[in-house]
Amino acid sequence: MTVNILFAGHDKRWPEYEPHLRAELDRVGIDAHLARDIAPEEVDYIVYAPNGPLKDFTPYSRAKAVLNLWAGVEQIIGNETLTQPLTRMVDDGLRRGMREWVTGHVLRHHLGMDAHIVNPHRIWDNSPPPLARQRPVTILGLGELGQACAEPLVELGFPVTGWSRSQKDAPGVRCLAGEDGLREALRGAEIVVLLLPLTEATENVLDAEKLALLAPGAVVINPGRGPLIDDDALLAALDSGQVGHATLDVFRIEPLPGEHPYRAHPKVTVTPHIASDTRPSTAAEVIIENIRRGEAGEPLLHLVDRQNGY
Ligand code: NAP
Repeated sequence: MTVNILFAGHDKRWPEYEPHLRAELDRVGIDAHLARDIAPEEVDYIVYAPNGPLKDFTPYSRAKAVLNLWAGVEQIIGNETLTQPLTRMVDDGLRRGMREWVTGHVLRHHLGMDAHIVNPHRIWDNSPPPLARQRPVTILGLGELGQACAEPLVELGFPVTGWSRSQKDAPGVRCLAGEDGLREALRGAEIVVLLLPLTEATENVLDAEKLALLAPGAVVINPGRGPLIDDDALLAALDSGQVGHATLDVFRIEPLPGEHPYRAHPKVTVTPHIASDTRPSTAAEVIIENIRRGEAGEPLLHLVDRQNGY
């Protein structure tokens, strides 16, 4: 029987995704009708993105799952019309992209690269940077992406601490959990990377009290979600010197408004939500594997826990 798959991602992503989804359907041997317009009551699976056209899931009475193309689900989790199982994106391309971005920005700050790249007075300061093993790094969120980013940092010798909701056991990482664990994870950290999902429990997790626990002059790197940080507290900590630099990829409002204080702040690097993107070639494998599983009556991969919000 033909499986009807609705692509409800952003229009401009359709040409990128279509060939990979079709190739994967062929490879796995699923007879499918894949399109952007299918009568709602005939749709079996919805390939979805929050910036796509679909907002009301009510008419999709037969849909067996909504397969999100994004890792973050905060924009869909509160949609009361969504009653179907929801999966989120975990794909190798996303993991690799985040690992490269985080490692690059950690090394920028660890090695003090700016002092040499931006050196208008051509100062010859030949004091070498410390070794990685002298620079404690803390990763908030030890999920798919947090653990993927911890690996190369551990490999380079950084003392890496990770924090998650449930206790983890990641190779070479000091793993902490719970409220007390959070304070312990942040105390004395010189570089903090935020890779938590945005939920009620994680909003403003990095507030004034937590920022005060960091080593003076610490660096904050946020490729997670903007509201994980109390912006006013971060700006105050930057101005006081408690935080030496913030590299921010995500914001409460995106694109970040031109007049936002982060834009012109000399101690803030703004990147436009590019830390890592879902890659169509690898994402298509995950999407079609879940459709195969759905058709075979097997459990879906990467199901979102509605209770926990991620
Ligand atoms: P994930 O696998 O679900 O991992 C989330 C981690 O956060 C888990 O370790 C989880 O703990 C922990 N966590 C959640 N709520 C917590 C809480 N209240 N207290 C302590 N720890 C908590 O997610 P992921 O795939 O790694 O993605 C993480 C986030 O990265 C996404 O949600 C998205 O917002 C962001 N992201 C950004 C970009 C970008 O380009 N900037 C790209 C992709 C993703 P447990 O392990 O105990 O569940």
